[in-house]
Amino acid sequence: MSTNWAGNFTFSAARAAHPASVEELQDVVRTADSARVVGAGHSFSTIADTGGTLISLDRMPEVFEVGDGSVRVSAGTRLARLAERLHAAGLALPAMPSLPHITIIGACATATHGSGNAIPSLASLVRSLDLVTADGGVTTLTRGDERFDGAVVAFGSLGVVVAVELDVVPAFEVEQRVYQDMPFDALVEDVDAVFASAYSVSAFTTWQGVAHVFAKHRTTDTRHDLSWTGATPATEPVHPVPGQPALHCTAQLGVPGPWHERLPHFRADFTPSVGRELQSEYFVAREHAADALRALNDLSAEITPVLLTSEVRTVAADAQWLSPVHDRPSTAFHFTWQPDDAAVRAVLRKIEAALSPWRPRAHWGKLFELADPGERYPHWARFAELRDELDPTRTFRNPLVDGWFTG
Ligand SMILES: Cc1cc2nc3c(=O)[nH]c(=O)nc-3n(C[C@H](O)[C@H](O)[C@H](O)COP(=O)(O)OP(=O)(O)OC[C@H]3O[C@@H](n4cnc5c(N)ncnc54)[C@H](O)[C@@H]3O)c2cc1C
Repeated sequence: MSTNWAGNFTFSAARAAHPASVEELQDVVRTADSARVVGAGHSFSTIADTGGTLISLDRMPEVFEVGDGSVRVSAGTRLARLAERLHAAGLALPAMPSLPHITIIGACATATHGSGNAIPSLASLVRSLDLVTADGGVTTLTRGDERFDGAVVAFGSLGVVVAVELDVVPAFEVEQRVYQDMPFDALVEDVDAVFASAYSVSAFTTWQGVAHVFAKHRTTDTRHDLSWTGATPATEPVHPVPGQPALHCTAQLGVPGPWHERLPHFRADFTPSVGRELQSEYFVAREHAADALRALNDLSAEITPVLLTSEVRTVAADAQWLSPVHDRPSTAFHFTWQPDDAAVRAVLRKIEAALSPWRPRAHWGKLFELADPGERYPHWARFAELRDELDPTRTFRNPLVDGWFTG
């Protein structure tokens, strides 16, 4: 079996299935003892793994139907493809993560997000979804239904989503600028002002006293220069990981361009080969951002030796039961690690202890060590009931996810 994108584990599935229609998929699911569906395989944990049948939607027919402020798409559509088609139709997603190679449903199932005080996770854009459940039936869940907010961020544990209807907005243009060497103390002191300075703001740091701030503002918004913080506007393109060439990064230096070619940090036409890195991310309520920054900075001696880079972002609150930004506008602390699992896990335990006063929630698709990840979610038990209802035979079981429920 193949590995995930980062190459840090091999899928343990006994067989692979690539259904080419909903009917074929229904047959696969109905006859499987256990199954799980994989998107682009870009998660860093075994969240998509199964010992049974690993289903991919890569041969399903493409769906793209524009509605009233919405679009209905096949769930396995890659974000880059979706963005290209939306843009051609004069439409946009308000949010994009740092890379567009992942599938729309894989992104939603783990509450993948970009950055921006007013920008929610991709999951919160879902209006409805069509789900093939373990008995082979198709259930449509729509925003407003009692169970809907439990069904989007569900990591494949309820069934296979075959189509989603998403909220979309009119296409817009964005300019991206990088401010280098912002003194870390200025970032901490003025964290709210820095993150309010543009539509989408990311602060990259290796916890060595400075941050590099990527500010992406819509061309129709007022632009706020961040030089007042002591940072220097970059005069050439910059890669988020120090020392890496910026060739594969989206255009910077304030050159205006379409939303989908500026909001991700990386260009869609650059396909990463094997990512020799691991990733983790923790979310705290936004009012604790400065305290959390200080606590993490105090761990710099432990973090930095295993780190490639960290990214600090903000995400608007949403209503999804298992979204890490459920009911709280959040600041997210991301870590791109060197590929040393044992060393990373040791430092994760320290980070989790340092952030514990603020009840951090972890990114479901990245690595974490929290023993009780669900206890931070008011609707965790409700989600367990929904899983019992939609997958009573546990066809979509997965040891990692099952462990979160049994502790
Ligand atoms: C280089 C890199 C950059 C990243 N940047 C960001 C970022 O900016 N922001 C962020 O939040 N995350 C980021 N991530 C994490 C990534 O967005 C998530 O791990 C995402 O879930 C990966 O999507 P995927 O399509 O690869 O899904 P997979 O990893 O294949 O699957 C993820 C989950 O979705 C489920 N799933 C897949 N298809 C279906 C389906 N049809 N129906 C139901 N469930 C399904 C799977 O079972 C699994 O539980 C990044 C990852 C990488 C490798």
